[in-house]
Amino acid sequence: MQNRDMVIRRPILQLVAMVLLPVLGVAQSKSVAKALAAKTQVVMLGTGTPYADPDRFGPATAIVVNGTPYLVDCGPGVVRRIAQAHKNGVEGLTPQKIGVLFITHLHSDHTVGYPDVMLSPAVIGRPGPLEVYGPKGLDEMTSYILKAWQKDIDIRVNGMEKGNAKAYVVHPHEIKAGVVYKDANMTVTAFPVKHGTWDESWGYRFDTPDKSIVISGDTAPTEAIAENCQGCDLLIHEVYSQAGLLSLPAERREYHRRFHTSTAELAKIAEAAQPKLLVLDHVLFWGTTPESVVAEMRSAGYSGKVVLANDLDVF
Ligand SMILES: [Zn+2]
Ligand SMILES: [Zn+2]
Repeated sequence: MQNRDMVIRRPILQLVAMVLLPVLGVAQSKSVAKALAAKTQVVMLGTGTPYADPDRFGPATAIVVNGTPYLVDCGPGVVRRIAQAHKNGVEGLTPQKIGVLFITHLHSDHTVGYPDVMLSPAVIGRPGPLEVYGPKGLDEMTSYILKAWQKDIDIRVNGMEKGNAKAYVVHPHEIKAGVVYKDANMTVTAFPVKHGTWDESWGYRFDTPDKSIVISGDTAPTEAIAENCQGCDLLIHEVYSQAGLLSLPAERREYHRRFHTSTAELAKIAEAAQPKLLVLDHVLFWGTTPESVVAEMRSAGYSGKVVLANDLDVF
C-alpha cells in the first residue's frame, strides 16, 4: 500500500500519538501531527458499473494529500459519497474542497456526476473554479452542462442567494499523454488505454510524497498499465469475471472482450506490473461474487497482494 519505510514508521508514530502521549499527559507533538497529516489517502467513492447496484455507486476515486482532495471520475452519487467519506473520518475530503477533477473517459457511468461536482459544491461554498482534465470532447460536454443549468446558475448568482460567481466557473483541459498536472502534492501523468472503439480513454499515474498510484480507467488489456506501474504502491484496475462472461449471450461477450479486462488477463498484467497492492475496481460480476472474482485472479496465476474494493474503502 505504501513504501516499506512508511509502513514501518507510521504505526510507530500512531502508537506514540494515540497511546503514549496521552498516557504521559503530553499533547500530540507538531511533528507527529504533520507526519500523520502528510499521509496520502486513496478513497474508493464508487466501485460500481452502469448496473445500478445500491451498494456500489458510480465510478469515482479521491486521492487526498496534505488535506487536499483530487477526484478521479464522477459517477452517479459522487458528491454524497464524498460527504459520507468525510463523515467516516477522511478529514481533507469535503464537497467544497474539490477543485481538481481528472476524467478517464466520457462514458456516462463515469460522468453522470459531473454536473453534481460542478454545481452542488458551488452552492454550498466552493471558493473558486473547478479545474477538469480529460479526453477530447470534455470542452463540449462541459459547455453543454453549463448551458443546461444556465437558469439555475443565473438565479443563484444574480438572485437573492447572491452566490459566488467564481465557484460556478469550470475550466476544462483536454489533455495529451504525459504530465498533465503538477503541484506541491502530486504529479499526474496521463497515458492512453484501449477502451474498445473510444477515440480517447486515459489511465493516470499519481505520484505523491509517499505513494504512487495507477488508475486504469476502463480498458481492455494494455501494456501501458505495467509500464506505468512498475512496482507502484497501488494499482487500481477494472476487471470482469471470466466465469460471469460465459453466462452472457455471445454478442455481449465480444463487446466486453474489446472494452474491458478479464480476471485471466489482469492476472498477467499485474504479474508484469508488480504493484504492492492490486485493487480490483469497477468489477463486472454477472452473478459471481467478490470472493469468486479474487479466486479467479489466483487460479489465473496472480500471486501478489490483491483486494476487491468496496465503496468508501480507504487505502
Ligand atoms: Zn467505459
Ligand atoms: Zn465504466
